[in-house]
Amino acid sequence: MSLPTVKAPPRASSELSPTTLPAPTVAPPATAQLTELFSSFQGEGPLVGVRQLFARFSHCHLKCTYCDTAMSNADGACHLHWPADIGAHDRLPNPVAPSKFIAAIKRYQAILPHHSLSLTGGEPLLYHRFLADIAPKLANIIPLYLETSGTQPEFYETVAPYMAHVAMDIKLPSASGEPWHTKEHREFLRLATQPYAPLNHQPPHTFAKVILNDKVTRQELVTLGNLMAGYEHVPLFLQPESAVTHHETDPLRLNCSPQTLEQAYQTLSAKGLQVRVVPQTHKLINIR
Ligand code: SF4
Repeated sequence: MSLPTVKAPPRASSELSPTTLPAPTVAPPATAQLTELFSSFQGEGPLVGVRQLFARFSHCHLKCTYCDTAMSNADGACHLHWPADIGAHDRLPNPVAPSKFIAAIKRYQAILPHHSLSLTGGEPLLYHRFLADIAPKLANIIPLYLETSGTQPEFYETVAPYMAHVAMDIKLPSASGEPWHTKEHREFLRLATQPYAPLNHQPPHTFAKVILNDKVTRQELVTLGNLMAGYEHVPLFLQPESAVTHHETDPLRLNCSPQTLEQAYQTLSAKGLQVRVVPQTHKLINIR
């Protein structure tokens, strides 16, 4: 009588020989599409005039009518502009890996100290996974300044502990052509005004800015005031919209009269907000 054949049980994975082990799956680092890195002066808000390093991320999920930002270069690369007396322009192929980005920022900072690194766009939070990688490594080298539309609070949370400054836009439908993003702006304000202990015991220096033109309605100003209710300590910068002539922004012509600015200032100040009227000064002095 022959014995029944007993099928060997499958081996546990710990018994597999190295040659049969599946290749480890390591998630590739998140990369980002960037348009340019450059050294310039901040033209908006409370830090107007400080020397900043700017990292402009490509692409945006919004379509503001006044947007004059180039979202990519013809050659598809990220252009590195150095101050004229320092060197020729350089390029980084897109997409840019975190290690290449960090190396470039360190190089800029070693050559010329900057107050902070502006993460701008486009919308930098589209690359929140990339930012979550680079932010902890850069925050001790250079303070981070996030420039955002303030419409993606869910992406902000991952990088929040590392931000020293947050500049958030509030989009008025009359100027931007966008619908109100009230819910997203409110949630963003909540997140951007709280500390993230133990990493960061102080909230970032957060401020809001609004592009304004003569089409603004009284109801919009009331809605804006209501949106900021509870955040009266967050400075609100009113920025008169520049006119566009022959497809180019003309900083000396504004689509916003002194009367409009006065009315907006009065309405919003009456709500207890810290209102400031400051134009986009980088356009006036013709710098990036
Ligand atoms: S949020 Fe900024 S980058 Fe995006 S479309 Fe509006 S102005 Fe342009």
